[in-house]
Amino acid sequence: MSTRLATAKAVIALGSNLGDRRANLETALARLAREPGVRVLAASSWHETDPVGGPPGQARYLNGVAQLETELSPRALLTCLLQLERLAGRERQGQPRNGARRLDLDLLFHGDARLSEPGLELPHPRLEDRSFVLEPLCELEPERVLGRSGLCVRAQLSKLTSSASQTQAGTPAPAAVSTPIVRLDSPAAAAQWCRDARAAGRSVGFVPTMGALHVGHLELVRRSARENDLTVASVFVNPLQFNDPRDFARYPRDFDGDTALLSGAGASMVFTGTLEQFFPGGLTPEGRLAEALWLEPGPSAEGLEGKHRPGHFRGVATIVGRLFDTVEPQRAYFGQKDFQQSLVVKDLARSRGRPEIVVCPTSREVSGLARSSRNQLLSAPERERAAALFAALCEARDAWLAGERGAEALDRLLAASLAESEVEVEYAEVRDPERWSATSCSGPLLRAVALVAARVGTTRLIDNLRLDEPIGGVR
Ligand code: AMP
Repeated sequence: MSTRLATAKAVIALGSNLGDRRANLETALARLAREPGVRVLAASSWHETDPVGGPPGQARYLNGVAQLETELSPRALLTCLLQLERLAGRERQGQPRNGARRLDLDLLFHGDARLSEPGLELPHPRLEDRSFVLEPLCELEPERVLGRSGLCVRAQLSKLTSSASQTQAGTPAPAAVSTPIVRLDSPAAAAQWCRDARAAGRSVGFVPTMGALHVGHLELVRRSARENDLTVASVFVNPLQFNDPRDFARYPRDFDGDTALLSGAGASMVFTGTLEQFFPGGLTPEGRLAEALWLEPGPSAEGLEGKHRPGHFRGVATIVGRLFDTVEPQRAYFGQKDFQQSLVVKDLARSRGRPEIVVCPTSREVSGLARSSRNQLLSAPERERAAALFAALCEARDAWLAGERGAEALDRLLAASLAESEVEVEYAEVRDPERWSATSCSGPLLRAVALVAARVGTTRLIDNLRLDEPIGGVR
């Protein structure tokens, strides 16, 4: 019987709690990508979770999920997954059920297949009860509707997380469930929570976001959770930083789903609020923020984003300043993805003497596309076209590695690469990251970052890459 089918999208879950867990998972993905008839489309980040069931005293797991495109039948793909487990040194026979393992691979979905065969049930029968599967799945497929509950992944995860927090109020929560999160709907309540935390001697890390969270945001949260006693996130689509009202209106929003993801990533509190709540009594009758309350950004706001989005960084500085006043964190986490923003925020923190600003590497999809809430707005062909941004940045980096140092030559290379793609470029420039100026660089560079903004269809995307540093964050 032929094992080849028309192409189907499949989703697998990966787990490991023995040996070098990250290496086990990443090797499995790399091997899978080399299997004939299998392409790895995207992978979630790795989530650390307590073991569920099995013998006591087991080590914690790293878990994730991956989307595949495959011509293999469900049975052939499962056989392939079992072979990969064996290659990683796992023996299923004679081992205790749910015992420690180097690699555990489960097939969750295979196209629309519904199967109930020995050893192969599709969709996977227990996935809706497992937050350690739903959390990473929610990064890749938040809107997928689940067959048993009829809820989408995000909603089912919210349900599991909230029933876990109810359980915790009465009896101890099961070990596998993420820590419940405190959710506050006003900056004033958040400020009080943070004051109490500081009074109790706990260090607070802060991740400001505009919501519609993805893996990139969650990596900031996880880093903060590792480096601070408590992590606070804000979800606020800041109207002050949108120079185009249509862009503001279509920006994706999902506070419930975001809360569930933040909880899974280790945040202790999330808050939101309205512009009026952030600036009580500070709005004009037309609903605009009074002029005296705006913060002016420093010179890093000039050029590039500052030029193409007039007023954007003024809006960023104003709200970030207010968020810092609310949380008073020891450290605040920002993504390198918004490179110029990280410079503006560093200026702001320097002028106030705090907090410490931690800039984290850009998280990328398998195609290299930088993760962004706006990627949700791209159609499938647009998403493919959007990979041209990273490809152009990589060409500039190759030239840098080959010895090219001239700013103009590197700019030309970026432009030539993007000219071959179907994206509408707003700017593409190579600059010295430590000597920012309103205008483009010229002459030889000692350090370099390449920055691009382009529209793909109606969606505006930005990306950047340090040419003089190893690439971080690419999976
Ligand atoms: P936003 O919700 O887009 O305002 O982003 C909130 C924070 O997440 C900012 O510090 C961003 O730079 C950061 N961020 C957004 N996308 C990524 C990404 N792909 N990798 C790392 N950080 C990111």
